[in-house]
Amino acid sequence: MNQVQLLPFGSVPAELLAELRDGLSREFSVRCDVLPPEPEPRFAFNITRQQYLSTEILARMVKRNAPAAVRLLGVTLVDLYIPILTFVFGEAQLRGNCALVSAHRLRQEFYGLPTDALLFRERLLKEAVHELGHTLTLSHCEDFECVMAPSHGVEWVDLKTSKFCRSCRSHAHMQKTSEAAF
Ligand SMILES: [Zn+2]
Ligand SMILES: [Zn+2]
Repeated sequence: MNQVQLLPFGSVPAELLAELRDGLSREFSVRCDVLPPEPEPRFAFNITRQQYLSTEILARMVKRNAPAAVRLLGVTLVDLYIPILTFVFGEAQLRGNCALVSAHRLRQEFYGLPTDALLFRERLLKEAVHELGHTLTLSHCEDFECVMAPSHGVEWVDLKTSKFCRSCRSHAHMQKTSEAAF
């Protein structure tokens, strides 16, 4: 991976994207750019669930055929799901080069709590690093502080750091397949 491109779906505040861009650039020591936004992903909306199917959005992103060394990270404020789960914070191609992250459930307001801008930004960075980690072949890690620890809820996100543990860092690489991970 030599570049991360952020692809906003729907309106995502420019300031949030800029902070995420800087954070990812720092974490991975690569260039990170923000692409022009795509419209809200209506094509992935499920009217019964009132949520968006992340797999559909990811499939659209794969069609853009980003170069292998680029990681394309979709960023959205809409609520994502996959059929077997109530929600997902994101989804990624395991060893592919596309990943997607949602900020919807990372806001304190979603849980009826007062706004916490710093916590929100930290959570988004962690989940973005996590999904990008999947594209670097990493699966979930048992070290609860490692960014590759699974996040079944926002409490789990808060427990972990934005960093890879030593083991994950040494195993990250760039082969390409089409499996998916969440
Ligand atoms: Zn780890
Ligand atoms: Zn995961």
